[in-house]
Amino acid sequence: MAAAARKTKSTLDFHQIPNFYCCYLLKSVRTTRATATYIGSTPNPSRRIRQHNGEISAGAWKTKHNRPWIMQMIVHGFPSKLAALQFEWAWQHPHVSRHLRDQDGKALFPGTNRPRMIKTLVKVVRTMVASFPYTTWPLHVKFFTEEAERLWNTLSGDPTIPPLPIGLTVRAEFEGVDGKSGKVGSGRCGPVDVTDAVFTSSHLAKHEAILASGRRLHCVVCKDALDTYQTKPLDSTLCPTPGCTATAHLACLGHHFLSLQPSSTGLVPRGGECPRCQSYILWGDIARGSCRRHAGGVAAHELDNDDQSDVDEVASLESEDLGQVLRPLFRSSGSGMFRGKEGGTMACARRDPWSLPAGEFPFSCPRSS
Ligand SMILES: [Zn+2]
Ligand SMILES: [Zn+2]
Repeated sequence: MAAAARKTKSTLDFHQIPNFYCCYLLKSVRTTRATATYIGSTPNPSRRIRQHNGEISAGAWKTKHNRPWIMQMIVHGFPSKLAALQFEWAWQHPHVSRHLRDQDGKALFPGTNRPRMIKTLVKVVRTMVASFPYTTWPLHVKFFTEEAERLWNTLSGDPTIPPLPIGLTVRAEFEGVDGKSGKVGSGRCGPVDVTDAVFTSSHLAKHEAILASGRRLHCVVCKDALDTYQTKPLDSTLCPTPGCTATAHLACLGHHFLSLQPSSTGLVPRGGECPRCQSYILWGDIARGSCRRHAGGVAAHELDNDDQSDVDEVASLESEDLGQVLRPLFRSSGSGMFRGKEGGTMACARRDPWSLPAGEFPFSCPRSS
């Protein structure tokens, strides 16, 4: 099912696990007292900031008047562009998002207007990454400024914010998104890497070594033979932890993780401990590994666009259960025990192959040529 073979207008209709997709927070530095902020999403943040600042053409017209901008922070690890757009929309509109409500259904960020102060926006995003359904995605946070990190850290003891979920990493990279801030941070040289080459090459090298060994593979959960490992990469898993060669049926591992999860808020686990290496592994990383094995390499380059209509369109999809984005990974070739709510696939689901009903082909991972 080659993406090019399908005719569509919306960029949302295609899906593969992207190499990189992030939501970002900009703040204007037009004057020392500037407070303007902007939230967006992109597969390439170091390129995107240049668009916002007018260094390269193409879009970003909304930010024309408060240039220059600095990228303060990103949240990355989105399993699809659609997921990033949904997150972006909720970050922009926390006062109306149905996912940012307390147990009584009251908005966590009440008011009639979109929040615009950086302090509030950092609080919103910290709440979001710790809230369902965003906790089912393998998200991570990077700060590019001391200001963003400080605002984040001052929220550590805030009782109104849920604790950060296991497996979420938070890094300060004061080199800036493009590596040109002149400050010392993580030691990175150059812009933030968006290729996913490190994960993909090491994962595929491990995979090739397993195949070359010729040994018969087994599911680390049910202990049965895993003879479809090579022919059906999307039905099987290889532990994403470096050095661990544990393999499993996708459905077995998903069921195992869900059974260990204290509160079953969805049909998709956040992750769990690998039964062999005991490392906590994120379900999104397991899915990414399967997708890369299926494709034989990294995903196709994702084009950035400035189509605000995509974001606005997502607003109408916000009522969907975002947790469903990762659900089809539970489609089981046999038991069907992860089929869940078949009725839960509406507009959003039809658009995103991750959310197709069990049994339908869930990916459009390209084979590398
Ligand atoms: Zn199994
Ligand atoms: Zn492992």
